[in-house]
Amino acid sequence: MNHDRSRELYDRALSVLPGGVNSAVRAAPQPYPVFARTGDGGHVVDADGNRYVDWIQGLGPLLLGHDLPESVTAAVQKRVADGPLFGMPTELEVDHAEFVARHVPSVEMLRFVNSGTEATVSAVRLARAVTGRNKVVVMQGGYHGAQESTLVEGDADHPRPSTNGIPQSFAEHTLPVPFNDADAAKRVFEEHGDDIACVLVEPVQANAGIAYPVDGYHETLRDLCTGAGALLVWDEVITGFRVGGLQCAQGKFGIDPDLTTFGKIIGGGFPVGAIGGKTEYVEQFTPSGEVFQAGTFSGHPATMAAGLETLKFAAENDVYDHVNDIGRQLREGLTDIVAEQAPGYTVVGTDSIFKVAFTRADSPPQAEGDTCTNGCRQNPDCPRFEECPKGGRDVSRMETDRYARLFRPAMREAGVLVSQNQYEANFVSYAHTEEDVERTLDAYRECL
Ligand SMILES: *Cc1c(COP(=O)(O)O)cnc(C)c1O
Repeated sequence: MNHDRSRELYDRALSVLPGGVNSAVRAAPQPYPVFARTGDGGHVVDADGNRYVDWIQGLGPLLLGHDLPESVTAAVQKRVADGPLFGMPTELEVDHAEFVARHVPSVEMLRFVNSGTEATVSAVRLARAVTGRNKVVVMQGGYHGAQESTLVEGDADHPRPSTNGIPQSFAEHTLPVPFNDADAAKRVFEEHGDDIACVLVEPVQANAGIAYPVDGYHETLRDLCTGAGALLVWDEVITGFRVGGLQCAQGKFGIDPDLTTFGKIIGGGFPVGAIGGKTEYVEQFTPSGEVFQAGTFSGHPATMAAGLETLKFAAENDVYDHVNDIGRQLREGLTDIVAEQAPGYTVVGTDSIFKVAFTRADSPPQAEGDTCTNGCRQNPDCPRFEECPKGGRDVSRMETDRYARLFRPAMREAGVLVSQNQYEANFVSYAHTEEDVERTLDAYRECL
């Protein structure tokens, strides 16, 4: 494959964009990223004209693939023709909010913003205001966007900013705990319960090698929050309208969070975020309440049109059946390939997300007993249970260099784009076909 044009663009980009990109993960591909030219269903064509099966799908938002259905395109084009925005409310915002509130069990009211980051920033501010407390419990290795309260690492006793530019005094309000560790969550509530404003957690840790929750974990967090008067905030920016379909992960897992953050899919490919939840909380945003929240572009008509029409299309067609079935085919196929070629590795994912986690199993598990064939479900009887990733900190112990420097570039040369590093998930869209599955499994067979 020839990548001359991408190489040349990257060379130019390095002079005018920091690291050559506008979002850090895009620069992760080795030796340099390919530049996208056009999307075509489940495929992407790069600046040099190379075509790939694309499992990045815009990092999650493109539930329907790169070709939007006629209804979505028409709604967006109409918005553009009617004038891009007004600084006044529009009917579309009401329609979209009604759709989300109708389908997502815990959501009665919501505020649209422009990114997942903005959603988690506002959710944390709201939780602090509602409770009159400062501390926020987050999961180690989790990602909630580029914001001060969550770019924190370490543990609850020694939190520290995970990037330059954040004062230590901010990080001290954040309590990182390991995902899937109910005892650690109980301990942090025993010690800090009266100061905890909220727990911010993803239902499935999808930015950390896709860690599925162990049985009872989310119930424990729900009980701890209720008991201590803290809010449970579910970050469904990735899982929303992907895991669990239209009712989102909270419907799938049967948990009732107080607040939910959304992003990605609900904008249909345009910049979006939202904070949803119980009216008694969400109503505390200005102007109905006292917690300041505002945005020039919030509820942008083109975004609302794209997001609403995408969700309506998903509601009226077999979108979730299709993407979940393709996801299952991939996970099952990968489970066989991994068993044969890389028995230490773990296939993870659920619904329409999947990944091969490059776990280091010192002694490959004996194939006795039932392993999960459709992605790790944290089954305690599974012979792989000890090795399978439980949370973000496990990813840093994976073979990240082998993934980034050897595996991923080889997949690219085989015409398949998988997640840009070992942390992120791969996403199935409605446009992916069984032929894409076959090509992808062939490429894994060749490159693992
Ligand atoms: C992507 C993501 C965010 C941040 O959303 P942006 O739109 O990139 O700001 C927050 N939380 C989770 C779980 C995400 O996956």
